Amino acid sequence: MAAAALAMSYKQEQREHYDTKAELKRLKDKYDYFWPRKIMMLFGAPGAGKGTQGPNITKTLGLPQLSTGDMLREAVSHGTPLGIKAQEAMASGSLVTDDLVIGIISDRIQEPDCGAGFILDGFPRTIAQAEALDELLIQTGERVNLILAFEVPEDVLEERICGRWMHKGSGRSYHVKFNPPKAMKLDAKQVPITGTMNDDETGEALYQRADDTKSALVKRLSDYNNLTTPLLDHYDKAHIVKRINGGLPIKQVTSQVMLAMSKKHMKH
Ligand code: AMP
Repeated sequence: MAAAALAMSYKQEQREHYDTKAELKRLKDKYDYFWPRKIMMLFGAPGAGKGTQGPNITKTLGLPQLSTGDMLREAVSHGTPLGIKAQEAMASGSLVTDDLVIGIISDRIQEPDCGAGFILDGFPRTIAQAEALDELLIQTGERVNLILAFEVPEDVLEERICGRWMHKGSGRSYHVKFNPPKAMKLDAKQVPITGTMNDDETGEALYQRADDTKSALVKRLSDYNNLTTPLLDHYDKAHIVKRINGGLPIKQVTSQVMLAMSKKHMKH
């Protein structure tokens, strides 16, 4: 093609590119202005797979995953007033007070990155928190629209929690057996060598959570069974709960999650 014709076709492509971009922006602005946000909740016991599946949903839908556990750990590590209040309960595997987490979430969901919606992870965990969330959302004519409830047998949870390693910056989680980091090496006793437990993407060191122990798990599970599972009844009435078999290998759980989020799977 002659140079002039090439330049013309390049210009045309650029124009189409900018037209598409402008159209996408118009659509996004319209969506932000008129439609309620997509408000999802990941529901499940510690180790059920919320932290593993959440990033796939974020990647697919572009919605931020709001983990109250991550936010509280961040506050503890920076020694903020919130962190100081939360520290003791968290270390023992107990819940922090409702007012603390309700306060964090009510501020967080007003941030600009929540404009099209958000994924709640680890909140609400009590009836009082669920009621406070409902009230908060009603003020803007919104409500939770989809709950993915991960069901996993308790013996599986223990193995998952006690072998879990986390990456602080991203919240990515690994497991010595089910999802080892690429760099992992084992010693003669088949125990992972700490210096080799590094994040696949950044190479940074992974860590084990202080409450990912057998003893703290007992308290965490009893709170989950007594205080948190009753919330499913609260939301079941609205027909927004989709149950996921979270005991399967990661890829199979991801497929169920994608199906549960698709329109085909929705009841109208
Ligand atoms: P997670 O990372 O979701 O397992 O949360 C870690 C810890 O943070 C929990 O064991 C609680 O101490 C605290 N926490 C997180 N979310 C909540 C919540 N919604 N209500 C009360 N405590 C919470």
